[in-house]
Amino acid sequence: MVIKTDALIVGAGPCGLFQVFELGLLGIKSHIVDALESPGGQCIELYPDKPIYDIPAIPVCDARDLVDQLLEQIDPFDPTFHLDQQVTDIEKIDELSFHIKTSKGTEFEAKSVIIAGGVGSFQPMPLRVEGVEQFIDKQIFYRVRDPNLFSGKDVVVLGGGDSAFDWVIELAQTAKSLTLIHRSEKFRAAPASVQKMRELEKAGVVRFIVGNITDLMSEDSQLKAAEIRLNDSSITELSLDHLLVFFGLSPKLGPIATWGIDLEKNQIPTNTHNFQTNIPGIYAIGDIATYPGKKKLILSGFHEAALAAFGIKERISPDQKVHLQYTTTSPIMHERLGVKS
Ligand code: FAD
Repeated sequence: MVIKTDALIVGAGPCGLFQVFELGLLGIKSHIVDALESPGGQCIELYPDKPIYDIPAIPVCDARDLVDQLLEQIDPFDPTFHLDQQVTDIEKIDELSFHIKTSKGTEFEAKSVIIAGGVGSFQPMPLRVEGVEQFIDKQIFYRVRDPNLFSGKDVVVLGGGDSAFDWVIELAQTAKSLTLIHRSEKFRAAPASVQKMRELEKAGVVRFIVGNITDLMSEDSQLKAAEIRLNDSSITELSLDHLLVFFGLSPKLGPIATWGIDLEKNQIPTNTHNFQTNIPGIYAIGDIATYPGKKKLILSGFHEAALAAFGIKERISPDQKVHLQYTTTSPIMHERLGVKS
């Protein structure tokens, strides 16, 4: 089934989320796609617990709170999220519409596309050990889709951040054995999770090793064990059924570079009138957009989203004059926001 929509937003970072709001005020419903499993872009992936001080009228808020507030703000416009999938293809159907496809096979026909792709899709940082590829998504995983797979198994988790610790805590009750390996005793994970892991270690449920995996051993194409270099440079071997790798995520521009849109040093040049790209009907906002004087700040992306929304309204309703209205006084905006005039 092809989903028809007036506006498809690529990227659910802070700017993509605010784009939903600005479009919603003008009566345009959006679909929004992100390669990540949850919305928030860099704010959630790179600095969820860091305070932000330069959002207008919010003296300070954690990045995670900002995303939560944006989600609450756009709730009245009921956007449809398509998460955990990358937009892979955008092709022009005719002057008025585009055909868009994602890595999960979701297809859209959209009158306008807004690229809010930030610095690109976040991809897991790979485990760099010879022969790793043949086991990916069979015995080695960069994300957990079905935790039941690890029940009653010998599981090794790599990493020192929140994902690694969250899964160690989650799988502690069901795995046959659970080992956490990290290159040092310094962790990026939340202190409460570190404390919980230490408690599980004390109780003998989790084994913690400081070291790095240097080799993989297999038998009949089955991964059987990993060679680990310990802190003192000695080598040990650990049997395992599954290896979960959480080395963090790094952004890659990815398929955006193949859509025929002009690029300038991995950013998309736009006009500053409505943030349209070189392809009419495709807009770019947030970190991925560039123009003279561009600053990669959340507040710049919010402004760009507002003007792009007006441009999109003019494109999809060319016969309607688009007036500027205030949210304080506009009855139609109150109706769209679900508040009383
Ligand atoms: P992003 O947040 O990068 O989100 C883009 C989203 O697009 C991602 O979720 C990505 O997965 C998705 N995506 C990309 N390509 C595809 C595709 N093909 N298909 C599907 N999804 C795709 N800014 C401030 O204003 N104030 C600050 O104090 C501040 N502090 C910062 C601190 C740190 C450590 C960092 C790294 C940045 C900081 N920034 C700050 C910058 C701010 O985070 C960015 O300006 C902002 O996140 C840009 O938002 P965005 O929505 O454009 O892109």
